[in-house]
Amino acid sequence: MSGILFIISAPSGSGKSTLVAGLRGYVKDLEFSVSYTTRSPRGSEEDGREYHFTTRQEFERMISADGFLEFAEVFGNYYGTARSVLVEAARRGNDILLDIDVQGERQVKQKMPDAVSIFVLPPSRTELESRLRKRSISENVKPEVILRRLDEARREIEKYPNYDYILVNDHLELSLDTLVAIVLGERARRSGQPLAPDQKQYLEAAEKCLKSRMELEIKGILESFNSAPRA
Ligand code: ADP
Ligand code: 5GP
Repeated sequence: MSGILFIISAPSGSGKSTLVAGLRGYVKDLEFSVSYTTRSPRGSEEDGREYHFTTRQEFERMISADGFLEFAEVFGNYYGTARSVLVEAARRGNDILLDIDVQGERQVKQKMPDAVSIFVLPPSRTELESRLRKRSISENVKPEVILRRLDEARREIEKYPNYDYILVNDHLELSLDTLVAIVLGERARRSGQPLAPDQKQYLEAAEKCLKSRMELEIKGILESFNSAPRA
């Protein structure tokens, strides 16, 4: 694997899909891994575009054949990243972005410590709830699902210390700029070349989101989840 492996995770409703869609428009030579899943397609999702939709039997066959870099069970369904995705991206000389959950991140980081992991946080539990409720109108999901996602969010957020960067998705445009800065900053840092002025700016913006620098800023966000009643 020669390219950089980026991992992005977030509690459902934090804005990860919105940010990743924005990133696609800004950064070249970055491939987006299409995972395998046993869940059914939703809405306008197409096989091979959002996911490779597969059966439990076929997924378990791939596990036995050691076909996955990582896999996990999330909300009762299997999700996994095929090893072949990384091989293909490296062959094309591209970096790759995995949108995976907190269990997958652990597995990848253990195998590939050079991977760059980014955890997206909502600005507060109240804001996450409001985003989930807003989205639920188009998603047609029940109020119980929102409560379950909020409870799951609390558990996922506890895993933030495993990540390299913490991105608080408050103002969308600023968050997207920061995500772009993390990707371009890491590329610049690892290139081994002297840094151009714009590359220095990316690195500076990215460094502000290093986990070690974010502990104080996210204290209130963590408290907003921990002080909420548990489902
Ligand atoms: P995720 O992929 O993390 O589940 P989405 O990208 O679907 O989340 O975003 C959840 C909802 O929040 C969507 O309605 C989206 O338009 C909205 N959203 C995303 N980012 C922001 C933001 N920074 N401020 C306000 N609303 C946002
Ligand atoms: P959704 O069903 O809403 O698309 O995704 C549910 C969760 O599964 C999200 O947290 C998403 O990041 C995670 N996920 C998607 N693909 C993978 C994967 O290949 N591996 C792992 N571990 N998680 C995944």
